[in-house]
Amino acid sequence: MNNLSQEEAEVIQYVRRFANEEVKPLAKEIDIKMEVPDKLIKRMHELGLFASYIPKEYGGYGMSFSFLASVIEELSKACPSTALVLDGALTLFAEPVLMFGSEELKKKYLTRVVNGEIGGLALTEPGAGSDAAAIRTTAQKVGSDYVINGTKIFISNGRLARFYVVDVVTDPERKHKGISTFVVDAETPGLKISRDIHKLGIRGSSTVELVFENVKVPESNLVGKLNEGFKVVMETLDAGRIGIAAQALGIAEGALDEAIKYAAQRKQFGKPITDFEGIQFMIADMGTQIEAARLLVYEAAARWDRHEDCIKISSMAKLFASDAAMKITTESLQLFGGYGYTTDMDAERHMRDAKITQIYEGTNQIQRVIIARKMLEESGI
Ligand SMILES: Cc1cc2nc3c(=O)[nH]c(=O)nc-3n(C[C@H](O)[C@H](O)[C@H](O)COP(=O)(O)OP(=O)(O)OC[C@H]3O[C@@H](n4cnc5c(N)ncnc54)[C@H](O)[C@@H]3O)c2cc1C
Repeated sequence: MNNLSQEEAEVIQYVRRFANEEVKPLAKEIDIKMEVPDKLIKRMHELGLFASYIPKEYGGYGMSFSFLASVIEELSKACPSTALVLDGALTLFAEPVLMFGSEELKKKYLTRVVNGEIGGLALTEPGAGSDAAAIRTTAQKVGSDYVINGTKIFISNGRLARFYVVDVVTDPERKHKGISTFVVDAETPGLKISRDIHKLGIRGSSTVELVFENVKVPESNLVGKLNEGFKVVMETLDAGRIGIAAQALGIAEGALDEAIKYAAQRKQFGKPITDFEGIQFMIADMGTQIEAARLLVYEAAARWDRHEDCIKISSMAKLFASDAAMKITTESLQLFGGYGYTTDMDAERHMRDAKITQIYEGTNQIQRVIIARKMLEESGI
């Protein structure tokens, strides 16, 4: 159903076992300590997960985007913060370099991703969220370098990243046609993490504010052409949204699995609560939403693999899967009754983790704007 090759489907069995046996037992601690432990990141590297989506010519395994979505789903069932480390490194950093980077840039950075070095995407600014074209961080040409100044906020993989894809203004007169994209090494002088941002959910994921003060990058670190960075951003987000949809799907599945187990053994009025039709209907609705979300996620991933236009389908997958994840995690908590509301159970964490999927990589209001715009365009009216 999810278009995996036989080899990919076999590897997913290992990923599922890794997620169940090594990631899931740590999920609560990751939430409390607000950190994904190094040992888990090392294990993901040892298992070849960072290399999975990188083409063979850069040292990777050249597996499909559908495979990557499936890995994100499996990891998110166990711990979406852990999944986001991989998702950010591959969909937000590696994908734009792969799609638009020069051969030199691909060789330089994708081989490092294969070696387990993590990347991130720095687009959002305090004054530019949904309106990404309103970014104010500038890059000015000085000799053969560009000098970056500005502030980026909410950057995932912040403290883990060795490099970021950064969106900047190179021609302020031309609005979105004056935006360019560069790869910037985290160690570059002048680039600082000004603060950690603490959150409701996915608390293990490092989210930071980045300040750029006269940060020098070579012109060769340009991703795509000068002043064509907005296209890089938009296409990166098309892929990224499929990753977030897969994350939402995994969160929903993880929550429902636990809720069903609990409900089957919880007795009230002398019988398991799963004997009550009211509970059965809740389970049926949640299962149906998960199935529908899965169909959308893997249809979007398959179209990405076939290099088709994915603007509408990736927004639809992200919109539907994240709304479903929010509903399902809320209803799953309900199945635990009062116990679900306590931190003794994982249900409250699942609900907190689900919420972000309706917000990042474009809020669900923005997804609706994108879907409607595309539908109206397609209607030819
Ligand atoms: C935990 C976390 C991790 C993140 N990771 C990254 C990252 O790695 N890299 C990165 O660059 N960014 C990242 N982001 C930023 C994220 O993508 C933005 O927060 C998001 O796009 C929304 O922007 P905003 O927060 O500025 O909200 P705003 O754009 O200020 O929106 C506020 C509200 O107005 C609504 N709204 C805005 N415009 C419209 C409209 N036209 N029609 C209808 N409603 C509208 C929004 O839906 C929202 O409800 C992250 C954010 C969080 C919270």
